[in-house]
Parts: sequence; C-alpha cells; structure tokens
Amino acid sequence: MYEPIIGLEIHAQLLTHTKLFCGCLTRFGDPPNTHTCPVCLGLPGSLPVLNMEAVSHAIKLALAVNAKIHLKSTFARKNYFYPDLPKGYQITQYKEPIATDGYLEIEVDGKKKRIGIERINMEEDAGKSIHNGFPDSNQKTYLDFNRCGIPLLEIVGKPEIYSPKEAVEFLSLLRTILQYLEICDGNMEEGSLRCDANLSIRRKGEKKLGVKTEIKNLNSFRFLQRALQYEIERQIEILESGKELKQETRYWDANQNKTVPMRTKEEAHDYRYFPEPDLPPLIINNNWIEKIKKTLPELPHQKIERFVNQYQIPYKDAKILCFDRNLADYFEKTVKITKLPKITSNWILTEVLRYLKELNKDISQFPVKPEELADLILLIEKKEISGKIAKEILPEMISTGKKASQIVKEKRLTQITNEDEIRKIAQKVIANNPKSLEQYKQGKTKVFGFFVGQIMKETKGKANPQLVNKILQELLKK
Ligand code: ZN
Ligand code: MN
Repeated sequence: MYEPIIGLEIHAQLLTHTKLFCGCLTRFGDPPNTHTCPVCLGLPGSLPVLNMEAVSHAIKLALAVNAKIHLKSTFARKNYFYPDLPKGYQITQYKEPIATDGYLEIEVDGKKKRIGIERINMEEDAGKSIHNGFPDSNQKTYLDFNRCGIPLLEIVGKPEIYSPKEAVEFLSLLRTILQYLEICDGNMEEGSLRCDANLSIRRKGEKKLGVKTEIKNLNSFRFLQRALQYEIERQIEILESGKELKQETRYWDANQNKTVPMRTKEEAHDYRYFPEPDLPPLIINNNWIEKIKKTLPELPHQKIERFVNQYQIPYKDAKILCFDRNLADYFEKTVKITKLPKITSNWILTEVLRYLKELNKDISQFPVKPEELADLILLIEKKEISGKIAKEILPEMISTGKKASQIVKEKRLTQITNEDEIRKIAQKVIANNPKSLEQYKQGKTKVFGFFVGQIMKETKGKANPQLVNKILQELLKK
C-alpha cells in the first residue's frame, strides 16, 4: 500500500488599486500595455516603492490563517530570464518572509484536520505572453505588461496533505478565506488564484519521503483533483515495475487528461537569490497589526459554527452556505423574513443552487431576491400552496420576474384546504377503484399511496397533502 504526500503552493493576486512597487493601476481587461511605467518595465534608474495596501492584505491573510507575523521582513531578487519579466528578476521574499507557520483546519468526511502553512511571501507578478498562431511556423508571441508588478501572495503549504480530496478542501477553504477578506477575487479561470502541487508517494509506514514531482497549471478544483489522482497512479506504476522515479516538473494537460513532463532536475532553474538592494527591510509594528485585526470579518469557520448554533441546521448544510459568502448573506436575509431556517436552507441548497447551476450564474446574479424567495416559502407555510406547486412557481419567478403571490393568483394555484371538497374527491376516487379498495382491505397498505396519487391528479397537485392523508385514512377505515 502506498500513501501520497502532497504540498500545495498557491499564488493569490491581490485586490489593490495599484501595483506592488509603482503607481500603475491593476485594473483587469484594459488594452495591453496601458498600465506600465519605468518601474514595472524595469528601466534603468527607476526605483521600487512598496505598496502598503498590499502589506495590509498580507497581514490580513496571515491573521486569518493563524500565522506568525514578522515585524521585520526583507525582499530578494529571484533571477531568471523570460520575455514577460523585463527586469530579468522577480522581487519576492526569500530568507525573511512576512509570515510563517500558519495552518488551516479542513474538514473531510466529517473529520477535522490541521494542514500547516509554511510561509507567506509577498512578491510581484510577471507580465503575460500571448501566443498567437501556434503551432504554425508564423507563430507570434505578444507581450502584455499590464500584469507585470501586480502584487501576489505566495502561500506555501506544508506537505501534510494525504489525498486529492484533502488537497481540494484545503484550496477551497483558502480561496473562501481570501474572498471573505476581500483581498483576492479567487477567480481561478482568470488566473487570480493559481495552484501548483508537490507530490511524492511512499509505502505506508515508511518515514522517508519519496522522489517528488511538481505539477503546474492546476487552474481549477477539478484539474487539481484529476492531476493528483493521475500522478499517484503514474508513480505507483513506475515503482511497481521496478523502475526509478525522477525528480521533475510536470504540467497538467487538460486536453490529454494527464500530466506531461516540463523539465527535469538537471534543467531546473538556479535562481541565484540575493537581497534586493533597492528596498529597505519592511518594518511593521504591533499597533498596525492590532488595528487590522479589528477589521477582520467573521471568517468561514466562525460563520459555519454560528449557523449551526443559531439556526440549528446541519454542519454540512452550513458549510455549503458559508463557503460562498454571498450565498450565506442570501440565506440570512431570507431567513430573517421567513423565520424558518431549516426550510429556507433546504430551499436554497436544493432549488436555488440547482437553478444557479443551470443558469451558470452565481447567487449575486440570481434574479429572485431574498424577500421574494421568502414570500414563496411563506405561502407554503401558510398552506396557501403545496411544496410541489411552489417548486413549479420558482422557475416562473426566475423567467418572468413576477412575484410568487401574483403567479398563484393568476394561475389559481391556491391550495385546496377545504376538507369537504377533498373528501368528495377522495370518495369519488375510492368509488372509481373498487379493485384497489379490495386489495387495501386485504392488507395491501401500499395501495394507500395509489389513492393519494389519484387525488393529487384530480386536483392538479393542489390538495393539501396532510389533509388528503387524514381524510383518506378516515374513509378507508370504514
Ligand atoms: Zn508601473
Ligand atoms: Mn512565486
């Protein structure tokens, strides 16, 4: 039996107004090379000035992941040549990062587990190469330096993850925290959150770590899960066949559904780190940290706990709601009106999420506002409509923008709660099905459901189910 040992390294693009070392705007989607200056283009004689908004963001994350914040940290140059890196080096943190030794507590299959975070480095992003025409011979590569110098946090996790599932949990919790803190939008497709993974395997019980592979380009949760699974199987196969693994960097090829070699240890970069002479050490004080601490929002795990206690909903439901801050807000706004936490949470987790998935939208774009969903839920609670009818009304609210009560009125969907009316229909159904009645009397109680179904059919689903049950029981007893 083998066990995988996984460590994640995550780059989070920070939501600051300007870049890390210059005053250029960080705005996404503008025409190429419209946000550049001598500093971020690395022109000779220009000097970097540290953006304190980015430092404040780094402190926020450090506090949220229980890391030790260092009052003194320094910057270093990481040297390598690449066309999208005009300076020829990246300014990052190396020997003295802003924070070390944090952890996240994840929950997998009902069990809680701590995963360490080794360090958080502040660094700048590189520009973007846009390859055009590949693989034709007349391929051209264009460079956009708008992204060059945008602040990143490099979050280096400890190799304490033992399955692809745990890796996905870790990344999604970290992403949620970044979004709660409003320091990164967490958009993996657009590259504002990027993930690389280290993976090695060893026989269970063995202490020594195996040869590790680094996997790049894991820009979705699905890719992370698949790439790790693929890599575990690939490494086991090699070891089982008696061959040796080599230390290498691979990337996830989403088209081929596999990891592909990028470079081996021999081709690995030597970054020749050295202290950045243009930047003094970053010195921060405890007052500032305390001030920032007071601005921290309620964090995901705190919100989950509060939902479980305050609303008495199951942990797993609270977790789904709270992993999306907007969804949690939507729930709380709705429940404030309905005062029915359990039903409200069920409606959001089943019906609302199903439509969001179908519409490929997130909750902030959902056309039904919390007060409108609350109205719908209250109509069921007041027994004006059945739950089944309510489920038919919701898509109509989505497509027409009409309120639930209006749709009910227009379509005459009000629930039948008149006992005499239901009794008459029930009597008719029983009279029309003598065979079923006979079976019921012989002890085939399953037939009861058949009668309920027939009554619902007669009333187009409008009969109150509790009353139908009650009346049928009375009639069949005779
Ligand atoms: Zn600039
Ligand atoms: Mn990095």
